[in-house]
Amino acid sequence: RRKKIVQECERLMDKPENIRNIAIAAHVDHGKTTLSDNLLAGAGMISEDTAGHQLAMDTEEDEQERGITIDAANVSMTHEYDEKNHLINLIDTPGHVDFGGDVTRAMRAVDGALVVVDAVEGAMPQTETVLRQALREGVKPALFINKVDRLISELQEGPQEMQQRLMAVIRDVNELIRGMTEEMDDVGDWRVSVEEGTVAFGSALYKWGVSMPSMQETGMDFGDIIELERADEREELHERTPLSDVVLDMVCEHFPNPIDAQPRRIPRIWRGDAESELAEQMRLVDDEGEVVLMVTDISMDPHAGEIATGRVFSGTIEKGQELYVSGTAGKNRVQSVGIFMGGEREEVEHVPAGNIAAVTGLRDAIAGSTVSSVEMTPFESIEHISEPVITKSVEAKSMDDLPKLIETLRQVSKEDPTIRIEINEDTGEHLISGQGELHLEVITQRIERNQGIPVITGEPIVVFREQPTRAGDVVEGISPNRHNRFYISVEPLSQDIVDILKLGEASMDMPELERREALQEAGMDKDTSQNVEHIYGTNILIDDTKGIQHLNETMELVIEGLEEALDDGPLAAEPVQGALIRLHDAKLHEDAIHRGPAQVIPATRQAVHGALIDAEVRLLEPIQNVRIDVPNEHMGPASGEIQGRRGRVDDMYQEGDLMVVEGVAPVSEMLGFSSDIRSATEGRASWNTENAGFQVMADNLQGETITEIRERKGMKTELPPSVDYF
Ligand code: GDP
Repeated sequence: RRKKIVQECERLMDKPENIRNIAIAAHVDHGKTTLSDNLLAGAGMISEDTAGHQLAMDTEEDEQERGITIDAANVSMTHEYDEKNHLINLIDTPGHVDFGGDVTRAMRAVDGALVVVDAVEGAMPQTETVLRQALREGVKPALFINKVDRLISELQEGPQEMQQRLMAVIRDVNELIRGMTEEMDDVGDWRVSVEEGTVAFGSALYKWGVSMPSMQETGMDFGDIIELERADEREELHERTPLSDVVLDMVCEHFPNPIDAQPRRIPRIWRGDAESELAEQMRLVDDEGEVVLMVTDISMDPHAGEIATGRVFSGTIEKGQELYVSGTAGKNRVQSVGIFMGGEREEVEHVPAGNIAAVTGLRDAIAGSTVSSVEMTPFESIEHISEPVITKSVEAKSMDDLPKLIETLRQVSKEDPTIRIEINEDTGEHLISGQGELHLEVITQRIERNQGIPVITGEPIVVFREQPTRAGDVVEGISPNRHNRFYISVEPLSQDIVDILKLGEASMDMPELERREALQEAGMDKDTSQNVEHIYGTNILIDDTKGIQHLNETMELVIEGLEEALDDGPLAAEPVQGALIRLHDAKLHEDAIHRGPAQVIPATRQAVHGALIDAEVRLLEPIQNVRIDVPNEHMGPASGEIQGRRGRVDDMYQEGDLMVVEGVAPVSEMLGFSSDIRSATEGRASWNTENAGFQVMADNLQGETITEIRERKGMKTELPPSVDYF
């Protein structure tokens, strides 16, 4: 049976017009896993009985235990629609916001996103996040409203109430879509609608679904649906259209195939020459063109080793090809190609353009790499919506495990670029930074359990930032031999400029003219935008000097000194953000020997740090948006939990039979929130958080926090006397 399906998939791979690459995106617990299993069962990939229990897509052990989906896994299935068989490549996305990076990467590989919303809870904060991630990548949405059985059996709603509730969900989702697509000129009206068939609803648990086309076909209305759900204790399920048919029909009808999608998506994700032959091949999904693969995920297979999964945008990938990997020097040889079926990978002869391929042998590839048969401009780096906010140390219990631990940590950072790893081979104490407490916990569990390396982990530590708050004066930096001097000032960058830097809309990778335009559009004056020498994180170096001898050949060292200074800011050696650094003048020794790294790097660093202090650099801490859903009687204690954490409650309102409390609190204070809120509300609250960037700490907390961080890092605790502005 399985072999037959594989053969059918292979046949369909060559017909891009019959392919749909899709993702399912949802707020945690809204039913993404249950729905995915349903679709797989409907397509004959897993048995009907176990659908909903087997959690075929949650392949990692820790995912099944926690009941959350962590890694983006991939499956292919076939579905007959409109008298044609279709190949549907489904990429799973994680439902927890701590794993936001994976969601964005999955979106890069697909053309349609099925957004799942719980009928009782409605659109939630992560619904908004995943929608934004999809739309920003040019991925078309459709809506499945799940758990409709609960409206009938638990809430005892009649046809009118039910219809009103479903309409309210659709309205909310459309409001989000409208807001997010308003300024996108390459998409039409992407709002979803029952009439057009881009909305379906039903119950993933009880395996039934309805959409306008299916209601027309069976002649059922809301009243009938309710009657069926009530009357039969669900024994007459066969009378209704199976959920998988309803949803997969919608997928085939309304999501674009690669041929329709790629002309729109390529300009959005690739900034190479639009007139080139390569661009044409990608737009046309040309299976005879150059091979272009965008890697969205790296995973480990105990037998095959590292597997790179990604979307083939042009050409045909097959065994033995020598392919370039962006960001690395040499080529990698393809050892095997395959597709995913359930949790398993099936080797196939070749995978042509328009499909999702699983490739072994690409040892230099990381999630986000562009892999190609010709050297090319890589795809736009996938922006990660949130930066790491929390760090934890890991150490092997036994020194014998050290090499294996280092290897595993390298692997982890390849698989998940939202994780940052600092390896310290000397002390054996490594630092991993990620999106939240749970994110790091899952990573350390994987190291312990999957790799069998017992580890000792430190307490989670919050990551801070340093940022200038006013325009400062020019400060001099002098080299140790006193022969080289740099004159630098710092001023804060506007939020608009910081935003485009974060989104990669102005970067050193793009043509200079385009960069200048983007910066000017965000409010930078013309002269400044013409002198951009370097961009580092959300900081920009401006070279305002004219005709200084030897400066050109020294610039590389200046940049090195600048980056060191920005990695470890002057207050607490935390990363600097949002700084515009201006080089006004430089005095350089005639002789190259006397202006080497040992002279220029410390001089630049000194000047940058001095200038940051003159620009009144301050410490910023990460904050989170917090949302708590709780029964009325527990609302007081719930909002108290936010306020008691240096937090602020912004809004409280009724939604269904629950109260919603929304607010903001610092990440450092949110550690341990999970157990505190449980005891404060007798376990009746459901809650979630979302990283919301960094915020300047109150002046009265600055000194104390800086001292704490400096102590922890073993730095001397006194600040330079020039830091007298707190
Ligand atoms: P995910 O976190 O989005 O992957 O959600 P899951 O698929 O794991 O579902 C979360 C919980 O909701 C599980 O306990 C499911 O059994 C339950 N669930 C999923 N779909 C339905 C549904 O249609 N009706 C009801 N009543 N429960 C459902």
